[in-house]
Amino acid sequence: MAKNIQAIRGMNDYLPKDTALWQRIEGTLKKVLDGYGYSEIRLPIVEQTPLFKRAIGEVTDVVEKEMYTFDDRNGDSLTLRPEGTAGCVRAGIEHGLLYNQEQRLWYIGPMFRYERPQKGRYRQFHQLGAEVFGLHGPDIDAELILLTARWWKALGIAEHVKLELNSIGSLEARANYRNALVGFLEQHVDVLDEDCKRRMYRNPLRVLDSKNPEVQALLNDAPRLSEYLDEASRAHFTGLCELLAQAGIPYTINECLVRGLDYYNRTVFEWVTTSLGAQGTVCAGGRYDSLVEQLGGRAVPAVGFAMGLERLVLLVQALNPDFTAPPTIDVYLISSGAGAQRAAMQLAERVRDVLPQLKLMTNYGGGNFKKQITRADKWGACVALILGENEVAAQQVVVKDLRSGEQETLAQSETAARLAQMLS
Ligand code: ATP
Ligand code: MG
Repeated sequence: MAKNIQAIRGMNDYLPKDTALWQRIEGTLKKVLDGYGYSEIRLPIVEQTPLFKRAIGEVTDVVEKEMYTFDDRNGDSLTLRPEGTAGCVRAGIEHGLLYNQEQRLWYIGPMFRYERPQKGRYRQFHQLGAEVFGLHGPDIDAELILLTARWWKALGIAEHVKLELNSIGSLEARANYRNALVGFLEQHVDVLDEDCKRRMYRNPLRVLDSKNPEVQALLNDAPRLSEYLDEASRAHFTGLCELLAQAGIPYTINECLVRGLDYYNRTVFEWVTTSLGAQGTVCAGGRYDSLVEQLGGRAVPAVGFAMGLERLVLLVQALNPDFTAPPTIDVYLISSGAGAQRAAMQLAERVRDVLPQLKLMTNYGGGNFKKQITRADKWGACVALILGENEVAAQQVVVKDLRSGEQETLAQSETAARLAQMLS
């Protein structure tokens, strides 16, 4: 017998028992975005490889070891998108969306990274991201954070995510700091692990990210990025902190928060949780005022974030049972006999014409009355419509309230009106 072909490691199927929850969560997220006037942008899943190398940075984990890159049949190097910002900026430049105007955009879809699969970390995962172009003040940074905070409330997880915030300053401030940091690290190479030594010259700020406790202890004595901030970045950060305080959003300043992607400047933030084990960052973002220029456009200020939907779904599943109820229908249509089956299909369509919101499922594949009632219960229906040969002959239908057990016989033409009454 042939061996079964299985899905690729780290790339999940999303089964009907879970998709209802996904849809409910996505619906909630989109409603909030809509309420802030953000518009959806849909982007290709595959882009030219140099786009990601230039945007994300050659010496980041993502570009060094996580991208799915392959040659197209004509020899072009293509990459499955590991994140959404690069493609969004590319599209913005290509379609002239970025100059002399503002854009508040969002996207949703699969991203691909070759990582070790584990809970909350997959090779195909989904992000919902937002990107704003053309606004440079801290007010828009604050708006993005307020929008995400509103999401947590709507999803019932607000108590379980915490905001961490930092400013990484201008490119120049960071370069000065980098020199100071490397100078410090050089004096303490003995404490550094291999990973940190590798990062020390290529991308020294990532050493701040190290999970190694000895390195973290050493960093207590290291020069601080906040001491190197340029005046404008400092004012921007103070402005943001004030706006968040005014809005009642608690935050912690985490001076080691630097983010893995190279394009950030000034504001960086993460929403983190302790409810998911090691994969604690649910949503992460920041400002990237030089990326548009870096990708060939004219300088345009920009700020955005990306949220990992798998981690969000895990959180909602763990913390908000209200959201995870299985999908149900309103009405189950039962019939017995071939003639009644055909009549059932016609009746169902007539009811749908009048009640487009109604969730109506028609029984197919036969089964005796008892079996069909069991199916109705399994789907949580509160009403059954029943058609036998006699009802069909008389153009009638039996309407059974599955909660009370009461039933009545009606003319088929009255079905929709009666259902509307019963379900209102
Ligand atoms: P991490 O430190 O967890 O690797 P990251 O800094 O690489 O995250 P970003 O590139 O900022 O993550 O992506 C934003 C969000 O996307 C993350 O906070 C996380 O919720 C989600 N995410 C990133 N990589 C994965 C993955 N492999 N599987 C599932 N979700 C992911
Ligand atoms: Mg990562």
